[in-house]
Amino acid sequence: MATTRSSCGTLRVEDIGQAVTCYGWVDHRRDHGGLVFIDLRDFSGLIQLVINPSEARDAYEAIKDARLEWVLRVDGTVRARGEGQENPRLATGQVELQVTAVTVLSAARTPPFSVHDDAEVDERVRLSYRYLDLRRPRIQKNLRARSEFVAGLRAAMHKMGFVEIETPTLIRATPEGARDYLVPSRLSHGDFYALPQSPQLYKQLCMVGGLDRYFQIARCWRDEDLRADRQPEFTQLDLEMSFVDEDDVFAACEYALGHAWEAACFRGGKLPSAFPRISWEDAQRRYGTDKPDTRFGMELVDLTSVFGKSSFRIFQQAVASAGSIVAICLEGGGTLTRSEIERELAPVAVAGGATGLAFITRRQTGWEGPIAKFLAPSELAKVEQMTGARAGDLVLIAAGNSASTRAGMGALRIYLGRTRSLFDPGQMDILWVTEFPMFEKDPATGEIRAAHHPFTMIQEEDIDYLESDPLRVRSRSYDIVLNGRETASGSIRITDPALQGRVFSALGIPPEEAARKFGFLLDAFSFGAPPHGGCAPGIDRLVMEGLGEENIRDVIAFPKNQQAQEPMTGAPAAVSESQLAELGLALLPRRGQKG
Ligand code: ASP
Repeated sequence: MATTRSSCGTLRVEDIGQAVTCYGWVDHRRDHGGLVFIDLRDFSGLIQLVINPSEARDAYEAIKDARLEWVLRVDGTVRARGEGQENPRLATGQVELQVTAVTVLSAARTPPFSVHDDAEVDERVRLSYRYLDLRRPRIQKNLRARSEFVAGLRAAMHKMGFVEIETPTLIRATPEGARDYLVPSRLSHGDFYALPQSPQLYKQLCMVGGLDRYFQIARCWRDEDLRADRQPEFTQLDLEMSFVDEDDVFAACEYALGHAWEAACFRGGKLPSAFPRISWEDAQRRYGTDKPDTRFGMELVDLTSVFGKSSFRIFQQAVASAGSIVAICLEGGGTLTRSEIERELAPVAVAGGATGLAFITRRQTGWEGPIAKFLAPSELAKVEQMTGARAGDLVLIAAGNSASTRAGMGALRIYLGRTRSLFDPGQMDILWVTEFPMFEKDPATGEIRAAHHPFTMIQEEDIDYLESDPLRVRSRSYDIVLNGRETASGSIRITDPALQGRVFSALGIPPEEAARKFGFLLDAFSFGAPPHGGCAPGIDRLVMEGLGEENIRDVIAFPKNQQAQEPMTGAPAAVSESQLAELGLALLPRRGQKG
């Protein structure tokens, strides 16, 4: 009988009677009543094999020693499982393959962990044997969904008339604010390429080159400390458009992400066709962060005006030193004890930036709490009105420097939202945050640096503050925030060389240095530059959120660990003296090693 090649997980009742050939890995083996049962696994799922020694002696001999993860080719006939033997949890659970012949294609050593379930396995082991980890259904599903997502992005970009262009990866460093990965030049000792933190300047030069709409599924590198949602190399949908403003860039991103989201069936749902927008200023005021998670309310309430003349010293001092008094109202929080508030909640607010945390509880009979007696009845009445507190609610209050107090209360809000289940984690929340400040103070050095990057256009009405009050200058930049996570950044760009020069000066980059580092860009702008802008959604983070994964490493085929190492291949690794010499390099003693 002619056999048909079939994937393991696709056989169904309709195939009964068919002669088929399957290839796969031994996922499970049982010897029972003289018969051998094997679950054979490939990318598509499992099929149960039955090997009966009295009917298929050679096949039985061939798999006599077969153990987990051996690779087999099997020929057989699809048949219905016996009465009561069906497995409703398996897509192929109504049928089995009665084996007529087996070829062992590869034997396997005992794997260091079981690949056929989601048992907790130490990540170091998983990453050391990533090829085994990739066989696990969850990672298979993630990488396939990622592939669909990227295909969806590409299709959408082409449909909108974007041109896919590859830009170089050995480049001159571009300032995106992170540390560069450097590559030494063999031909020019002492000189280095940088791996791009993003294709920022090339995509702008594509616009000057008249390409009109550029995109790239771009790999980017940033040598930063790693977190659950950050890898040293990551992938962006990088795009840039000529003759546009914010609305055009937003519409292109919304279309591409929405299309790809559906293509990948992320969270079985759709993204809104237009994402809500909030300014950076509003986000800070209402949520104490530039990455607001608006899946729940509990917005910050600014009580500064209430306590201007308060007799409560801490509040009054905060107001006197131009600070803020910020509250959140936790519905039903009146059941929390003083020690729970002080031990659990206050440290969260303090770690986020607040100097401390006060609280008052609304009871049927009035306000309670250690500071309630210091507050005037008129002040308490205003607090009640502004926070909307009702009997049984808890009002948490912090006072001090405006920005850090808001940040502390924003962190507390998120903590309460997550730990008190104030929202459904399956729910989606996506929005644009707009008009970020152009500059920020480096907390370590106090120096002014670009909040996004120095090529970002300034809001027209703020240009005059560039020299006199740079921290007041707002930019035409924007982020996409997905479930409280930054997932894209972009901006409308500067195209006027004179204005670009003023931004460099505000950043403390003297004209000679600007000319040396960015002369090519300033030159390009002097040859007729179209107004342009763009954005770069981060694919890894989008996929992570789309799949509801907590760790970015679970959506990347070969990720790095927290120390930016790849345990499987052992990268990074030492190189030979001769390789170093060829590059004109000599090494200092290793850190922690005496020279
Ligand atoms: N290059 C920027 C980034 O990677 C994105 C952009 O401005 O388009 O964040």
